Amino acid sequence: MKQIGILGSTGSIGTQTLEIVRNHTEELQVTALAAGSNIELLEQQIREFRPRIAAVWKEENAATLRTMVRDMDVRIVSGMEGLIEAAVLEQNEILVTAIVGMIGIQPTIAAIRAGKDIALANKETLVTAGHIIMHLAEKCHVRILPVDSEHSAIFQCLNGENSREIDKILLTASGGPFRGRDTAFLSSVRLADALKHPNWSMGRKITVDSATMVNKGLEVMEARWLFGVGLEDIQVVVQPQSVIHSMVQFQDGAVLAQLGTPDMKLPIQYALFYPERQFLPGKRLDFDTLASIDFEKPDPDVFRGLSLAYQAGRTGGSLPTVFNAANEFAVARFLEERIRFLDIYRIIEECMEAHKKVEHPSVDEILAAEQWTYEYIESRWKFEYSH
Ligand code: NDP
Ligand code: MG
Repeated sequence: MKQIGILGSTGSIGTQTLEIVRNHTEELQVTALAAGSNIELLEQQIREFRPRIAAVWKEENAATLRTMVRDMDVRIVSGMEGLIEAAVLEQNEILVTAIVGMIGIQPTIAAIRAGKDIALANKETLVTAGHIIMHLAEKCHVRILPVDSEHSAIFQCLNGENSREIDKILLTASGGPFRGRDTAFLSSVRLADALKHPNWSMGRKITVDSATMVNKGLEVMEARWLFGVGLEDIQVVVQPQSVIHSMVQFQDGAVLAQLGTPDMKLPIQYALFYPERQFLPGKRLDFDTLASIDFEKPDPDVFRGLSLAYQAGRTGGSLPTVFNAANEFAVARFLEERIRFLDIYRIIEECMEAHKKVEHPSVDEILAAEQWTYEYIESRWKFEYSH
């Protein structure tokens, strides 16, 4: 029986992880859950999966939840302290980091220190603190198992291969809802348009990140840390049907790819049972009806999330943190309809230009760079409600 903790259990990845647990009650047991504010769903999850501990962000929500589950044997905790407590729970063997944003850094680091394997969905953590996390994981003999579909695909392609023989990583992208559009078109798109992803159903933040292609930019940096390759060895390829989840080209010219229907349960399950594969119900690729698999070159001049990410990654130090924090802040404002789509790029770019880089930032310096970014944006931008 593998004991698992899930940070972000009420979200898109979190609920799909619990679906997998539901199908594997003999093999998987939930020991810890953590959510932001959806205490109604968290209560249901506590009743169904009976974890030892559950964390919510605000203490007032924790107090309400304690009353809601007073008939159950579960400890309810709150704040960053609670999140960390849930992450490092003695019984956890593997921690699924399905929380959204940089808030995942500290619990992830604490879990690695406590020797927990990490099934990593929370890419913002690797983007900002990859240099710390990968080093620490090696030192603590902990596995970082990718949940992001592209990185899982690469990980699957590398099974049994020598990673020193990688020539390049071909990271696929759907291109999002605005694929093929120009800047003039992007200037007038609305929130509802950005939330219509053609192939994947995901949380709101990552859905907007897919529309800006900031998501692909974050994934380039994520891949660099996970697979120890240079940024120049990662090529983004638009594959509109999301059938090829990513590819690896080796030194002899061979290209290996992982294909499948777009379903996040596959990479989540692969991380939970690695190195074994288990039956997963769901649709299979049908090569008789699959008309074609197309490829396109992305346009980084229009989808500037990609070019800004490469710039942040190449410069390194605290700049990826600024890129990520500016994006988190801007996307939150876009989701409230207080800025326009292209303002997301403007905000990121302004912050990156104004930031004084810190080399090899510590966790405190990463958090300080995040704070600097938020304050800088607040001092430069007015956020009016547009309606
Ligand atoms: P969602 O927005 O659907 O879920 C986010 C989760 O994080 C929710 O459970 C939310 O809780 C929780 N959360 C938010 N703030 C806090 C907090 N302060 N303390 C504790 N929990 C908190 O996001 P996704 O599931 O889409 O994404 C999660 C991560 O996985 C992101 O990093 C994303 O980039 C990555 N990812 C997601 C994919 C997907 O298909 N969805 C694919 C690949 C990567 P609540 O709702 O209760 O407030
Ligand atoms: Mg992805």
